[in-house]
Parts: sequence; C-alpha cells; structure tokens
Amino acid sequence: MTLTEELKEYAKSIGIDKIRITGVEPFLEAREFLMNMKERDYLSKFINNDIDLITNPKQVLPTAQSVIVCAISYYHEIESPPSFKEELRGKFSKFAWGRDYHQVLGEKLEQLIGFLRTRTDNLEVKKFVDTGPTVDRALARRAGIGWQGKNCSIINPDYGSWIFIGGIITNLELEFDAPIEDQCSGCRKCIEACPTGALVDEYTLKSNKCLGYITLSKGYIEKEDRRKMGTRIWGCDTCQDVCPHNQKVKFGNHSDFLPQTLEAYPQLSSLLALTNKDYEEKFKPTPMNWRGKRPIQRNAAIVLGNLKNPKAIPHLLKGLDDPKPIVRAHSAWALGEIGEPSVIGDLKKRLAKEREEEVIVEIEGVIDKLSDLC
Ligand code: SF4
Ligand code: SF4
Repeated sequence: MTLTEELKEYAKSIGIDKIRITGVEPFLEAREFLMNMKERDYLSKFINNDIDLITNPKQVLPTAQSVIVCAISYYHEIESPPSFKEELRGKFSKFAWGRDYHQVLGEKLEQLIGFLRTRTDNLEVKKFVDTGPTVDRALARRAGIGWQGKNCSIINPDYGSWIFIGGIITNLELEFDAPIEDQCSGCRKCIEACPTGALVDEYTLKSNKCLGYITLSKGYIEKEDRRKMGTRIWGCDTCQDVCPHNQKVKFGNHSDFLPQTLEAYPQLSSLLALTNKDYEEKFKPTPMNWRGKRPIQRNAAIVLGNLKNPKAIPHLLKGLDDPKPIVRAHSAWALGEIGEPSVIGDLKKRLAKEREEEVIVEIEGVIDKLSDLC
C-alpha cells in the first residue's frame, strides 16, 4: 500500500468523509477571479486580503509538494420545524447548529498530521480550515472533492454542498486526484431563489448583498435587507436548499454538528434579551462564537419584526431599553413592521430620553408610520 492509500484509509477511520490530494501550482484562475471581485467590491470582508498568499500554496509553505484536501458533512435535518410566527422563533443556518467546525475539522487534521509523522521524518505541514472561501473552494475543486456550483458552493456527489472543507499543505510527495465534472448543466435554481439577488450571475456572488454575510456583519442593516432576512437569524441556506443535488444526499455521521447548546429554531425573545453569561454558555461552543452578542440580538429583533405577530411587542419594548443603540434601533423598526399603533405612547416615552441620533431617526420614522395607520 502506498503512503497516499494508507493516509486515505486512516482518514476514513477517523471520520473524514472525503479526502483528495492535489498539487501546489498557484491558483491563477482563482487569483484573477478574486482580483476582479475585489475591484468590483464583491469580495467578502471576511476573506484574507493577501490574494497572492492565499492562492499560492508555496507562499504558505515554500517546501510544499502536495495539498491534502478534506471534507466532512454537516448535513442533518430536524423533524417538524416549528410554527415560526406562532411560537416567535427564527432559524440558524445548518452550518451553525453544532460545535464549531474549525475545532472539529481542525482536530481531525491534527490526527492526520500525527499519522503522517509516524510514517515519515522531516514532515512539514500547514493546516487550514476556512482560510478564505474561494481559495478553499479552488483547492477542493482541483482536488476533485466536488465541482463548484453556480451558487459558489462546492458540491460533492455523495454529500452535496453541506460540507466543511479544510486541509494540509505538506512537503510530502503524494499521489494526486483529478477534478470532477461540473454537473450544474442548464440549472439556475439557486440564482432564481436567492432572496437578495446576491448571486448576480453564475458563479458570481456579491458578498455584501448575501444574507450569509449580512446576518454575520456588525452595524445597522439596510431596511430592504432586514425584510429579506425573513426568519433567518444567522446565515442563509436558500441557495443550497433548492439545489437538486442536495435533495438526496447522505446524512453526515457527525453528531458534533447536531444542535447542542442551542436549538436550531430558537425562541427570539430569549435571543433579544441575551445576557453575557448565556452568550458564553450557548454560543461559545458554536461557529457563532466570534461576533459577540449584539448582532444576534439585532437579528432577533429583525426577525420578530418580520413575523408581524403582536405577541412580540412586549419583548421589543424591552429591546428599546437595551444599553446598545443597535438593539434599540432594530427593535423600534420591528415594532413599526408589526404595525400596532397602540405602542406609539411607549415609543414617545423612549424618544424623550433617547440620545443616539440613529435610534432617534428610527423611532421617529416608526411613530410617523404608525400614526398614519390610526
Ligand atoms: Fe442568496 Fe442566501 Fe445564497 Fe447568499 S446564501 S447567495 S443570500 S440564497
Ligand atoms: Fe448548480 Fe442548480 Fe445547484 Fe445552482 S441549484 S448549484 S445551478 S445544480
């Protein structure tokens, strides 16, 4: 058995669902694509800005000879989603349900590195998990983990696009795998289903219009985008949900990615009133552990507005008393969406003591809107 075969067998034994290997030539096409996206301001702020570095494995590890690319499935379904409107609940994207994938996949990559150390001296490695979506995708595509769908996800024939990708750049000479064919064919379902038009064209994502990016960002969300969030609290699965290749895929074997500290469809009132202690306990073990609690509170207020259920009013009135302006402003907006003029008195009381210009503008706008309904 060759070292490559041994490595693949070991990977399977530790729960890596797919492992393929590719060479270290620079990703010229990905580089050009990223440069173009940067010029058009389509690039996510979460991507490492050093495009030369992230598209050239030899810049990361000068002695590199091979890149080992791994994928693990996070696909799970929860039976019977709740009545969002009745129960005042929203939803987290599937990728965020369970344990932080950086840790789960990172631990498996460490195990692979440990295995390689038992087989060879002078091993040099650089591990990566989610270093930048496009370059991880370029690696996964060239290694044949999947093809890149028009929704920009990597689609594996067995597991669909519900996969986390990571890998190891190494000085070992291993046997390479070939890419697999693009199977999107004449389909455009993902582009048609995207609620914001972020998929501006096939394979082209305008990141700052994508709800996967917007819900994770800090600051005030544009009103138009707030409405498009619907019941989404963190991330967006729409362009993956509609993909025909995701309809009959295998479930992942990784219970780590089932909800543990949080529900997949949580109650919005408890998120809006999230305490630091709850954030530490419930969000820190998940991939939502890096943004702090304010964007979660903000998004919970937005979803409460989108549900348009008057039962949310007492929770949003409490949101108006939150110490952070961003939570107060989005709570006010949500009250405007519910459209109950009976809250005008409460809004006026809050307005009288409000000092933040952006919150004042938001509350005044809602008072005007609700007054027109009287
Ligand atoms: Fe559009 Fe949602 Fe896909 Fe982003 S994640 S491209 S918003 S469907
Ligand atoms: Fe490709 Fe259709 Fe899936 Fe989009 S929905 S990624 S076009 S197969």
